[in-house]
Amino acid sequence: HADIAMYHAKEHGRNNYQFFSEDMNATLTRKVQLESGLRSALANEEFLLHYQPQVDSASGEVTGMETLIRWRTADGTLVSPAEFIPLAEETRLILPIGEWVLTTACRQAKRWHDEGHRHLKLAVNLSPLQFLDASLMEIVRGALEKTAFPASSLELEITEGVAVYDAELAIARMEALRDLGIGIAIDDFGTGYSSMMYLKRFPVTNLKIAQPFVQDMETSPADKALVATMVSMAHSMGMSVIAEGVETLGQLESLQALGCDEIQGYLFSRPLPAEQFTSMLKNGLPHPSRA
Ligand code: C2E
Ligand code: MG
Ligand code: MG
Ligand code: MG
Repeated sequence: HADIAMYHAKEHGRNNYQFFSEDMNATLTRKVQLESGLRSALANEEFLLHYQPQVDSASGEVTGMETLIRWRTADGTLVSPAEFIPLAEETRLILPIGEWVLTTACRQAKRWHDEGHRHLKLAVNLSPLQFLDASLMEIVRGALEKTAFPASSLELEITEGVAVYDAELAIARMEALRDLGIGIAIDDFGTGYSSMMYLKRFPVTNLKIAQPFVQDMETSPADKALVATMVSMAHSMGMSVIAEGVETLGQLESLQALGCDEIQGYLFSRPLPAEQFTSMLKNGLPHPSRA
């Protein structure tokens, strides 16, 4: 960094040098602050979970929910998982954080089961590091035992990327999870590497069509064709399909026509705190309408 800064200083004079280095400092400072914040966030109970309903596209019934982590720092700011999950991966803090997510979400979902919503499935995101770490099976079994949540109601979401690191290990992990009765969803399907290659060998139960395809399917015939292909391919391989990021009634109608099994997106609901999700279960989802 010093070399680059020196180069700028020489080429453009002193003012430019200061500008450049302040910019770099700001980014670095932000990262260092986030990292030290992350280290104490679990102990300080700064993480919380939101739950986004997944809806049967034919009946409109809530079939389950995906849990999404939120981080509210001591000063009240919300940090997006898109910002801190990569940092948590880099520092391996994702392991204890991920264990907390799994246990907390299973405990909450067990409550909803006990309140009479026994059909609800819980989907939990796993980052590649979590999925491939040697501790995974122990952590998953531990969370299920501690909370008495049934394995058959749990679905773990991974991305296609895990196959790139070590396909054999990924397959062994998926088989071990499947043997416990846990479902495996491929998240953001179509955006990573190796979409087709590995699917055949992976014991995957659910495909999540990534938001960009869904967003463009009304305006782009190519995207609509891709979605149609993903749905029929998944079905012919015995998988269930869910579309992510569904925001409009037009998208819903197209997905229904293509036979997509489930829908997740702002059209039905944003991710909700547990208490709001509970009221939603009681009162039902509002019918989606044209804005
Ligand atoms: P993801 O698993 O693909 O989650 C879907 C993201 O899309 C969520 O963003 C959700 O709030 C957002 N979303 C849902 N419906 C709509 C919609 O209709 N329109 C738009 N524009 N967005 C929608 P979020 O909560 O910010 O999470 C971002 C990513 O962070 C997740 O993507 C996931 O990869 C990661 N993440 C979140 N929670 C966890 C966690 O507990 N563990 C791990 N390892 N990763 C997590
Ligand atoms: Mg599901
Ligand atoms: Mg996900
Ligand atoms: Mg996704």
